[in-house]
Amino acid sequence: MTDLTGRFGLIVGVANKRSLAWAIAQAAGRAGARLAITYQGERLEENVRELSASLDAPLILPCDVTDDAQVADVFAAIGREFGGLDFVLHGAAFAPRAELDHPFVDTTRDGFRTALDISAYSLIALARGAAPLMAARGGGSIVTLTYLGSTRVVPNYNVMGVAKAALEASVRYLASDLGPRNIRVNAISAGPITTLAAKGISGFTGFLQAYRERAPLKRNIDASEVADTAVFLLGPAGRGITGEVLIVDAGYHVMGV
Ligand code: NAP
Repeated sequence: MTDLTGRFGLIVGVANKRSLAWAIAQAAGRAGARLAITYQGERLEENVRELSASLDAPLILPCDVTDDAQVADVFAAIGREFGGLDFVLHGAAFAPRAELDHPFVDTTRDGFRTALDISAYSLIALARGAAPLMAARGGGSIVTLTYLGSTRVVPNYNVMGVAKAALEASVRYLASDLGPRNIRVNAISAGPITTLAAKGISGFTGFLQAYRERAPLKRNIDASEVADTAVFLLGPAGRGITGEVLIVDAGYHVMGV
């Protein structure tokens, strides 16, 4: 198992116990990391505080990723409390519900802007804020979460697919920019897992069934498999990997028919 003892991490994207970001927070905590965990809006604060009670002295901070001041406050608090940062897990994504119900051709300018801002631009904002704190520690690792809808058409995934394409391109550009400071940037492309965000996609249970039927492993993946891969990329075992999209989907993507 990866040892993250003595390392400091930031986890963005915990809504509830099903969140992939929460599975990753738990795995990173078990590996010994001390964590800052953010919540989006007061409505989620209590939930995130309750979940995080099982972790070792976590720093719980508000962060709406569309708000530059809140993003800046997160890194200021981490600087004060931890004095540096070793890793960031970015698990924030959102598209207005209507954009996932209508045909893609009817995507609105506002819906496009919102989806790309929250789901893709936010990685750039977080990487920029994290970089000086990571450089102070001699380097760091940033991991985001993406989906196959970035490169293939998945029914109803619509503008989220475009946002994930932008997110994956951002991973490569950030990896190039930040590599000289020994900061790595990677994505995990996860197979479908039932979470709050996933439930917003019409036909999601059909995705689960298709993966079970067609993936080489003949099953769905679970959040712990994404979490173990994230801990690998966030920690020293992933030190030679950057700019990569690592696929954790029971092999579904290799199948032609
Ligand atoms: P989730 O639990 O709903 O997590 C999504 C998170 O994004 C929530 O915590 C959500 O908070 C947060 N978020 C939305 N708008 C935000 C904002 N403005 N500022 C800060 N946070 C914001 O669902 P999840 O499935 O674990 O999603 C995590 C990541 O995994 C996403 O990038 C998703 O696309 C990706 N992913 C998921 C799957 C899957 O099948 N579940 C597969 C591949 C990739 P609110 O609840 O308050 O909006």
